[in-house]
Formats: sequence, structure tokens, C-alpha cells
Amino acid sequence: MYWFFVRRKMLLLFSFFVLILLGFMTYWFLGLPLSSGKREAPPSAISPLQGKTILVDVGHGGVDGGASKGDSFLEKDMNLQMALQLQKTLQQHGAITFLSRDSDRDLSGVNPNDRRRNTLDLTNRIRWANQVGGDIFLSLHMNSSQSSRVRGALLLYYKHVKENSDAERLARHLQRELNYFYSAYAHKGEIYKHEPIKGNYFVLKHTKMPAVIVEMGFVTNAEDRKIFQQESFQEEFCEAIVKGLIKYFSQVPDQFIPSERPGME
Ligand SMILES: [Zn+2]
Repeated sequence: MYWFFVRRKMLLLFSFFVLILLGFMTYWFLGLPLSSGKREAPPSAISPLQGKTILVDVGHGGVDGGASKGDSFLEKDMNLQMALQLQKTLQQHGAITFLSRDSDRDLSGVNPNDRRRNTLDLTNRIRWANQVGGDIFLSLHMNSSQSSRVRGALLLYYKHVKENSDAERLARHLQRELNYFYSAYAHKGEIYKHEPIKGNYFVLKHTKMPAVIVEMGFVTNAEDRKIFQQESFQEEFCEAIVKGLIKYFSQVPDQFIPSERPGME
């Protein structure tokens, strides 16, 4: 009988410890994902964009309307609208931003009929960027195509940058984020697989910081024209750019998989 009681006592004690252990294990299992989830996005997290200087070049302006579709859609106007929205979004993430223009004007400083106007406009953008200085340079534009079916964003970078240079990495991160973003606005079956394009772009060649041109959408596509005039789209587009920039500045490895050439076939 004595042994029975002793064994019962030991059994109770043992069960007690097992229960405590189970309790700890449950807490550990449940607690771990919760705490790591919090670590990823604490409310007071410092954004990787905090304190970064981002130069936003607003394409065209003044006598230079850029790409257009009728009188109702001018590239220069959309570039400015998007730049102002992007500036707001970037500032919310703690970035310091500078715009090459915040009104409807060109940067040439010469008479509209002057033959040097276009070249001077571009060289002044480069001079501005190199004088102000910054971590990156984004030149905002709208694209046009022979085919009215081509949609989406295209990233351009200078062809003679080294492979895996910052400019290329920046272009790839932004391209991937914007492809993903555009897919939400796609018609059924459309997949955005645009790849960044490297070329001999004057502005990108002479800017001293990693530089890309963001061709945000196509003025020649009716759907792109429509969505770009929606405020909610403009805001979300800029958030997608910010997501790409966060990856760029966080040194997230680029996993962009080259696929088909641009085209929405
Ligand atoms: Zn343009």
C-alpha cells in the first residue's frame, strides 16, 4: 500500500511537470511566430528609406509635352502628378526628396525655338542631379508604343554599367515590383513579364549616382491612360515603387528571372 501511495505521489508529480512542460512548449510554439512577426514590422520600425536622398527627375515640361494621346493626356502632366505623389509617399517613409521641377516648365533656360533646347534641358537635369547629390536618381516618364495593346511599366538603365551594378539592381527591383503591381490591374490572362532594358541613355550616362528611367505606363494604351488618372492607382503605384526601393536599400538579393521580351501578347 505504501508503494502504491508513493507511486501515486510520484505519478502526480510527474504529471505536474509534464503539464508545465507542455505549457511551455505551447507558449514557445505559439510565441515564436508572433514575436518574429512583430520583429518584421514593429510599428516604430525605421524604414530603410529613412534619411536616404532620392532625386526625382520629372520628365519633359513646358514646350516639351512628351508622349501624348490627343489633348487630354500629356506625358509631362502625368509625370508631374506622379512625381508629387511619389514625393509624398517617399517622405512618409522618411526619405529626403528633390524634384527637378514642380511646375509645368522645361529646364533648358532658353527660348522654345532655340535648337539647343532639348540638349540643354537634359544637361541641366544632369547638372541639377550632380549638384544636389543623392543616393539614387529616378527619372519619371510615360511610354508610347506602335501597338495600343502594350501596357505596363518599363525600367531603363545605362548599358555600360557593370553587371550587377547598383543601377541594374535598382532597375530589376523596381521592374519586379511594378510587374507584380500591374498584374492586379491586368485583364484576365495578362501577365506582366517586362524586363529592364539597358541602353545608351544620355541622362543616365552622366548622373553620378545609380540612375534609372521609370517608364511608368503607356499613353498609347487606353487602360493605362484610364488607371493613371485615378488617385488610388497613383498612390498604389508609388507604394509599389517604395517597396522596390526598400528591397534595393535593404540589399535584398535580386531574384529576377529573365523571361519574355516586353509585349502583352
Ligand atoms: Zn518621356
